[in-house]
Amino acid sequence: MENGTGTTPAQDRGTSGGEPGRRALVIGAGIGGLTAAAGLADRGWQVTVLERSATLEPVGAAISLAPNGQRALDRVGVGDAVRSLAAWQGSGGLRAPDGRWLARTSSEEAGERYGDNLVLLHRATLIDLLRARLPEDAVRVDAAAEVVDPGAADDPRRPARVRTATGELTADLVVAADGIGSATRRLLFPDHPGPEYAGFTTWRIMVPAPAEPFAPHETWGRGALWGSHPLHDGTVYAYAAAAVPEGGHAEDERAELLRRFGDWHHPVPALLAAAAPEGVLRHDVRHMRRPLPACHRGRVALLGDAAHAMAPSLGQGGNQAIEDGVVLAHHLAPGTPPGPGLAAYSADRLPRTSAVVARAAKAGALTLLRPALAVRARDALVATVSRLGPDLVLRSFAGITDWQ
Ligand code: FAD
Repeated sequence: MENGTGTTPAQDRGTSGGEPGRRALVIGAGIGGLTAAAGLADRGWQVTVLERSATLEPVGAAISLAPNGQRALDRVGVGDAVRSLAAWQGSGGLRAPDGRWLARTSSEEAGERYGDNLVLLHRATLIDLLRARLPEDAVRVDAAAEVVDPGAADDPRRPARVRTATGELTADLVVAADGIGSATRRLLFPDHPGPEYAGFTTWRIMVPAPAEPFAPHETWGRGALWGSHPLHDGTVYAYAAAAVPEGGHAEDERAELLRRFGDWHHPVPALLAAAAPEGVLRHDVRHMRRPLPACHRGRVALLGDAAHAMAPSLGQGGNQAIEDGVVLAHHLAPGTPPGPGLAAYSADRLPRTSAVVARAAKAGALTLLRPALAVRARDALVATVSRLGPDLVLRSFAGITDWQ
């Protein structure tokens, strides 16, 4: 059988690994795929990552990693490198568009309660850190891949088969980390409806920090929200969301942001003034309200957005993808049939990720409420509940919660 590299199968084993029972293919070099690859390589799997893009440069500005994600990253050796990039010091919290604080918390409070602070970092930095945990030749770019046969987990004569533009590869284990549009999910679970519109769109920008300082915040308006977080390197990551019909796009998204958020409190106007129109990313949000029946089929494990795309309202999609990768590697010893490990992976991850997807959907609905009365009631409730303890603020503003 051709192997997609222009080499014979035996030679291909030399680059991507191929000792019987040890050969793993990962489809997709996003956060989830690279975490899984690093974890599996640490366990002795011979891993090849196939990425369809020409580079590993990720789309999407920055990402927030909560303590659960940081702890999972410890397992693949990059937790401390991520923690060293924490920029949040002092206060932060939830505000109203006129600048009133609805609820405040602090980085100290987050640390005391959950052991770690929230870290925001460039996505490219996280990708680089994960990539560096793998052997140089483990990642192939320009390598779109497609599962053609998931194989039989407990039959050594039935490996999984994956097609690339240059031929077919076989593997003892395939990790499908091919993101929200996952073709692997459609192949393995054809009856699942897949992701659906979550009811809102998002914008993201990265800009230099404004002269006048500000505390990190998420600000909830009527059917709209804005968040601003300083990063370690002096830039600011800001995001916005609005409950609008699916599929809308403005000619000039920066002008659209100015129209919607230009009169909100500092630093929103200053950040918008610093943004370049072509630097504004806009994405409609889709999520998988209905969980998959399992996170694996045959010898193929699904992870990250491919398995459980969620609304970004808790900033947990990437964190959960990281957890997936670490838990998968934990359950799968090379050289043994992967069936029991894959079943254990599904059993561990499905309840947890389904719960986070559901909570993220609820958080999205709460933060993007529209009716004026409901918004007033929400804001009053937030203020009251936050006086009782920091949990609600930490959960809503920083995605930090009790799923440690
Ligand atoms: P992806 O990052 O999408 O990676 C999939 C990879 O697979 C891509 O590189 C793609 O090119 C590749 N691929 C696809 N098909 C193929 C193929 N056939 N062959 C080869 N390669 C293929 N999460 C957080 O934890 N914190 C946040 O602050 C946060 N903020 C967010 C803000 C917004 C606005 C949005 C929309 C999401 C946010 N998320 C956040 C969610 C997070 O971005 C995702 O959950 C995370 O990127 C999923 O990682 P992944 O590896 O599963 O998929």
